[in-house]
Amino acid sequence: MLLDRNLHIRAIDTFIDPSVPRERAIITHGHADHARSGHGAVLATPDTIAIMQTRYGVDCAGRFQALDFGVPLLIDDVSITLYPAGHILGSAQVLVEHKGQRVVVTGDYKRLADRTAQPYELVRCDLLVTEATFGLPVFQHPLPQTEIARLLKSVRDNPERSHLVGCYALGKAQRVIALLRDAGWDAPIYLHGAMLKLCGLYEELGVTLGDLRPALDVPRADFAGQIVIAPPSAIRDRWSRRFPDPMVCQASGWMSVKQRARQALVELPLVISDHCDWGELQQTVHETEAATVWVTHGREDALVYWCRQQGLEAQPLHLQRFEDDGGEEAA
Ligand SMILES: [Zn+2]
Ligand SMILES: [Zn+2]
Repeated sequence: MLLDRNLHIRAIDTFIDPSVPRERAIITHGHADHARSGHGAVLATPDTIAIMQTRYGVDCAGRFQALDFGVPLLIDDVSITLYPAGHILGSAQVLVEHKGQRVVVTGDYKRLADRTAQPYELVRCDLLVTEATFGLPVFQHPLPQTEIARLLKSVRDNPERSHLVGCYALGKAQRVIALLRDAGWDAPIYLHGAMLKLCGLYEELGVTLGDLRPALDVPRADFAGQIVIAPPSAIRDRWSRRFPDPMVCQASGWMSVKQRARQALVELPLVISDHCDWGELQQTVHETEAATVWVTHGREDALVYWCRQQGLEAQPLHLQRFEDDGGEEAA
């Protein structure tokens, strides 16, 4: 087999998104459960390399090799090509080809348009290794524009309150800001300190986010009617006391689960996901024409069952992941 169940490409002794340091790694994207520091050599898109170096330091791997989307790289007789995954900036699917066999590892992906990430491209293959974070029929994500419209309506209806939107710092925060801008919100957006570096990097890499300001040294009353973006943990701790009567919001695919929103004390849940929903997962399996599907990263069983019903060979892949900075928040 070209790829084993640890996402190890044996012929070139290279792992995809390994959870422990390896001599050679291909990294699909910058989230901490995929990109770790300490590998000998990292192959990734230029944006992913920039994100890793911003988060973990420029020396977080022995060496880096940047590979642009759509450009095949031949290593011995194995060809590697990265294709956009549409999940966050720089996120890639990995196509591995060897003697006519095609394997695609999706990493995390979504198919809805998002101007903060290169748009998803379908890649046909024989073996598809797909994530299934939202791999249950109950997950049908609404359009993000609808959710942003709800947020803006709440801001208009509550001019004396500040709106604190909990967002994961990499990917979600920038997407929510871009959605707000595209919906016509051109007031300053205030940021928790944890957001500043990555928003700055996105801007540097060409994603315009408008007027962003640190939520520091601003008189309390001035936050009335304003939008503040912060990590989900911060909106519930002492940090949030600096804002007048904050409306606690959170943007995540998990916000469709009402109990989760309630437990997280979220007053205004926004269902904005950076992963495929159930329908998109099915559509992808179908369109790749893969005969074999391995399902990982979430709710494997339902998608495995569905694939088998379609006559495909399907297996759950229980990869060990270390979700040290809140895997759920990345959803
Ligand atoms: Zn991710
Ligand atoms: Zn992930």
